Amino acid sequence: MSLIKKITCHVVSAPVERPFTSSRGWLYKQRGSCIVEIETADGVVGWGECYGPSQVARAYIESQYGPRIIGRDAFDVEVIWEDLYNRIKDYGSKGMAISALSGIDIALWDIIGKVCGKPIHKLIGGAHRTEVQSYATGLYFIDMDRLIEEAVEEAQEYVAQGFTAIKMKIGLGSPKLDIERVRAVREAIGGDVRLMVDANHCFTVPAAIKLGRELEKLDVDWFEEPISPEDLDGYVEVTRALDMAVAGGENEFTRWGFRDIVTRKAMDIVQPDVCAAGGISECRKIATLAAAHGVECVPHAWGSAIGLAATLHFLAALPDQPPSFRPMPPLLEFEQCENPFRDLLTVDPIVQVRGIVQIPTAPGLGIEVKRDVLDRYRVV
Ligand code: CA
Repeated sequence: MSLIKKITCHVVSAPVERPFTSSRGWLYKQRGSCIVEIETADGVVGWGECYGPSQVARAYIESQYGPRIIGRDAFDVEVIWEDLYNRIKDYGSKGMAISALSGIDIALWDIIGKVCGKPIHKLIGGAHRTEVQSYATGLYFIDMDRLIEEAVEEAQEYVAQGFTAIKMKIGLGSPKLDIERVRAVREAIGGDVRLMVDANHCFTVPAAIKLGRELEKLDVDWFEEPISPEDLDGYVEVTRALDMAVAGGENEFTRWGFRDIVTRKAMDIVQPDVCAAGGISECRKIATLAAAHGVECVPHAWGSAIGLAATLHFLAALPDQPPSFRPMPPLLEFEQCENPFRDLLTVDPIVQVRGIVQIPTAPGLGIEVKRDVLDRYRVV
């Protein structure tokens, strides 16, 4: 038994030197997170992370979930998941209630791994791969007077760093300008680097289809969040109309949320976030559901080294989709905007070499958290 003794939320925030935005229009001036720490009676510590507004995640954990899990066995991770979900679902079956639950789930898996002396992926099915191909997420909008130039420069920098796949933001309020910017990036990186686009759901159905047809000519791999996530009928239309893959789901939660997307094949690729959609336990179920319906699962990731490590273990245990002699393995989203919690929070930062990231092999998440970094950026 690994009895849970204490649960602590570390709310951290750091300023961003060059604020950036996407089609959403809100300016990212700081990066922050709710880091969850769970300690057992034997002194084993597990780490987790919650995606989204960190003070809200903290409120869920401190007022609702925390008191319910003290004294329980960390190995009952899915029993705890079902209990907490059923406690909260009348008030929040999606959104921050599930993000907060995700942070707890990841921390419990970290504890289980540490107690067993095994990395998490060895406990959830094993290693289909020991390393993953990553793609650089970036090319946000920073300098409104140099939107094309800055995108080209940033893309060239990723290629120089070894990345072989890049995802860029679109949705500048002018499809013509979007196309011009994507074309400039495609010409700068050449035909061998994979390129994806992310609209952060800013288009209507007809606008997305019209733009998608132009993007197909520029050999774009996938069109992420073309339209608003609530419009599932719209997703079916866009996905059917375009030859290119349509992706989405970073703002969807749990097996029940993803059920409707995958059974209707509303997207070609679903992107659950382990720090949001329900943790490692729930994302495993979502991935199985997707595979059963012929939908690819390529997780979203946008957090600290803790979320990134959890995503790597999840990716290691994902079967090839579909299995083949030379399969196309699922990609790691390696977000590249300024974030000290991604780069500085662990003793050995997670890095890419020629676009490849190694799956951690040490017990649990396989990372060592630096408490001085939490203290330096602590809000609560
Ligand atoms: Ca996205």
